Amino acid sequence: MALTGVEIFKLLPKTNCKKCGFPTCLAFAMKLAQRQATLDACPDVSEEAKQKLGAASAPPVRPIIMGTGEKAVKLGEETVLFRHDKRFVNPCVFALEIQDTLPDSEIDLKIKEVLDSEIDRVGQKLRIDAIALKNTSNDTGRFESLAKTVAAKAPEVPVIICATNPRSAETAAVVFSNKKPVIYGVNSENAEAMTGIAKTYKTALGIMAKGLDELANLTEKIKSLGVEDIIMDSGARKAKEILEHNTLIRRAAIKKNFKPLGYPVITFAQREDSLVESLIASIGVAKYSSIVVLSSIEKWKNLSLFTLRQNIYTDPQVPMQVEQKIYKIGEPNPESPLMITTNFSLTYFIVSGEIENSRVPGYLAVMDCEGLSVLTAWAAGKFTASKIAQFIKESGVESNIKHRELIIPGYVSILSGAIEDKLDGWKITVGPREANGLPAFLKSRAA
Ligand code: SF4
Repeated sequence: MALTGVEIFKLLPKTNCKKCGFPTCLAFAMKLAQRQATLDACPDVSEEAKQKLGAASAPPVRPIIMGTGEKAVKLGEETVLFRHDKRFVNPCVFALEIQDTLPDSEIDLKIKEVLDSEIDRVGQKLRIDAIALKNTSNDTGRFESLAKTVAAKAPEVPVIICATNPRSAETAAVVFSNKKPVIYGVNSENAEAMTGIAKTYKTALGIMAKGLDELANLTEKIKSLGVEDIIMDSGARKAKEILEHNTLIRRAAIKKNFKPLGYPVITFAQREDSLVESLIASIGVAKYSSIVVLSSIEKWKNLSLFTLRQNIYTDPQVPMQVEQKIYKIGEPNPESPLMITTNFSLTYFIVSGEIENSRVPGYLAVMDCEGLSVLTAWAAGKFTASKIAQFIKESGVESNIKHRELIIPGYVSILSGAIEDKLDGWKITVGPREANGLPAFLKSRAA
């Protein structure tokens, strides 16, 4: 069971030295109990207390790594029910199912789709993260052939080996040995055999249960057999069931610290209708699935699911920011225009994207406004005439350009006079209100 704040407090040094960033040991203990702080913030905690508190402060959803190298993904490690309580930690993984009954050409096509799925959105690389190989044929030779093809053509992509037949599972585990795959398909009949394979090849195990009670019993059984890296499938397939089971599982793990359900969840979203599949997948993304398996990965579907995932797994208390500096867009020369905006990531990527679209090279001065967008930063007093003037003076941009003209966003046109007063010899030009007006604006000036 989780320790209370007072129980944790009794194990702390009680010196109130503040090194942990909290005013007292009691305040730190309360935050630890709420899982809003981690024990490593206190440098003076004793080894004995570390052991006791370490177990108590372990995340209620076990962290598991799938795959190796740069494309390895981390699952679980979640500590809250709602992202506004703290944040969700490890983004849900999208996996494309490839069945071993497919012709070779289709298998190749699906592998290529996974490899080509990566996009860049506000500075983050987003992709279909994994392949779920399915032993639909129940034929071990056929499954081995699929495993070898995937291992050869997508060696860096993490895999989920979906097989209920232990021989098939082991054959694929051999192909992916040392690649940290997940073997999914453990049930009450094959649990001993599958656990043996997982221990030999050091894989995680995915349980395929029929309901939450059987799921909890199976995780306990697998754990008693010596495997602790477990992924859970409660058997939910309908939207309502997925939502209910995932919520009950997360609540049991977080609120009750119920260890038998303290593992990442896998959701199978496959549907014939791709739109329905996207909707099922989005329930998994929003409500606690650590892996969502898809049957197809059209670009439109990826884009919407990637965007949803990125938003849900962004820390709501920390706006996404880019570095304050003068960015060169294209290959600007000393006559090229100079524009200014704030350092909210989305603002930066939209504005710089539109400048690129204009094909007019320029300089974009990105000012640190603590990750706020232009209007919000202005309203909060962080994007003011004096701060803009100071930033431009200190940025060194004057040595890169011959002119002295600064283009400001149309939404803060009200600042133009005040900036001119503070930036001696500069002309302030009001640009378009929306970034999508920039291409026409810049082209008309360059004409
Ligand atoms: S660093 Fe440790 S000893 Fe110091 S106040 Fe925080 S919890 Fe107490």
